[in-house]
Parts: sequence; C-alpha cells; structure tokens
Amino acid sequence: AESTPAIVVDGVVKTYGGVRALKGVDLTIPAGTVEALVGANGAGKSTLIGVLTGRVAATEGTVTIGGVQPKPGEPTASRAAGLVAIYQELTIVPGLSAEDNVFLGMTPSSAGVVRGREIHRRYLELCSRLGVRIDGRQMARRLSVADQQILEIMRALVAEAKIILLDEPTAALSDTERVALVRLVKELRSQGVTMIFVSHNLEEVLDVADHVTVLRDGRVVQQGPVAEWDRTRIVDEMLGEAG
Ligand code: ATP
Repeated sequence: AESTPAIVVDGVVKTYGGVRALKGVDLTIPAGTVEALVGANGAGKSTLIGVLTGRVAATEGTVTIGGVQPKPGEPTASRAAGLVAIYQELTIVPGLSAEDNVFLGMTPSSAGVVRGREIHRRYLELCSRLGVRIDGRQMARRLSVADQQILEIMRALVAEAKIILLDEPTAALSDTERVALVRLVKELRSQGVTMIFVSHNLEEVLDVADHVTVLRDGRVVQQGPVAEWDRTRIVDEMLGEAG
C-alpha cells in the first residue's frame, strides 16, 4: 500500500484584498522525497510557504501534513504535525553554545530533561550521524551563517521534524558552504527526512530534488520527476515561455 504522503495541498487559494496570490494550488509530496519549489518573483512561493507553515491562512482549500490537517493560520499546529521551516533569518540564540541551540528544539516526548554532558554526548552522536563538524561548545555567535543554518537543521531534527522546509538555504553561502549544505540535504534524504527545497539556484535544484514544482502567477504550471527537467525547461516554465 502507498504510505501517507508527507504533504497534500488541495485547492489552495489565497487572496489579499483584490490580489489573488494563489489561484488553486494542488501538490502532493510523497514521504521521504525532496520537492523543489521554484518560481519567479511574485509567483506565489512565499504565500504557499506561509500556508504550509501556518503563517498564512488560506482563503480556500486545505493542507494536510502527515495525514493530519493542522488548524489554518497556526504555525504551532503545522509544527506539531511535523513541518519545520528554516528561513534565511535564522533563530539561533547567539549567546548559547552550538549544542545548547540544537537541543532547544527538544520536544517533551524526547526523553525527559537532558543537560550538560548528556547534551554534549547527544550532540556528538547527531554530528556523527549527519557528517557535521561543528564544535558544539562554541558560542553560536562565533559561527558562520552556514554553520548556524546547519544547527537550525539539527534543531529541527531534535524537534522530531518529519518535513523540513528550506527557504533559499544557500542564498547567503559561499561555494564551499553551498556544497556542504547540499551534502547535508542528501544525507537527510537518505535518512528518510522529507524536504521542501525552495531555491533560485537551478543547478542545485536539479542536483538535490526528486521532484520539481514550478509556480507561476499563483498556479502550479508544471510538476514532475527531476529526470524530466533541465535548466532551460525550468526557466521556460517559470517565465511562461514553454512549448
Ligand atoms: P518572491 O520570490 O518575490 O517572494 P513569491 O513567489 O514568493 O515572490 P509572493 O510573495 O507569494 O510571491 O506573492 C505573490 C503575489 O501576492 C504577489 O503579487 C504579491 O504582490 C502578492 N502579495 C503577497 N503578500 C501580500 C500581502 N500581504 N498583501 C497583498 N499582496 C500580497
């Protein structure tokens, strides 16, 4: 039998006054896959991300996360359903150590209160599982943006995220950092984490995604497995110059 999809977006419409930002979006993301979401500026990506994360209440339609429908417009409900979004504006606490930041994400269900040495031990385990090399005892403020972003991803895992949405995760990174992030995304995928990868970098999209969704003018204009795509076709679909 088919497993429950990670995400089902069904007929989502969002209007702001007279502006129809989303005009009826349908999207199913199978569990354990990486879905790339691409679109030109104004296509509706941010609005769709908002609806997925519960920051924005849809005017019509529903979002189902791991089989449950979180209350629209409530970010805590989407999180509880298993979706954690990581934005370019990071939420790392600069005055805490790297490892304390990661374990800030701990949920009540993750085995009681852990402190000090136990956090350090678990942090090392998580690093080794993910192939991450960041000194857990460093103050977060001393780390690069790239490392802080990796800590956010680790925090999402500690928070038992089933689906991680990465909004332009490499936009502020150097080439080396970009490679490290892409490697981490692939590692997470191999460990069964579902991801939504929002990026303008099409080489990267083609590298990490299983499936590509193109939004244009508030609609999904094209969707398909990554093997069916190349850069030119994505750009044509984004701009509406296909066929
Ligand atoms: P970008 O990549 O520039 O963020 P986007 O694809 O994320 O673009 P959205 O930000 O979702 O696109 O915007 C889609 C449409 O909805 C645009 O026409 C935008 O002007 C409009 N829009 C978005 N937010 C609001 C708002 N709060 N009030 C009014 N109109 C809005």
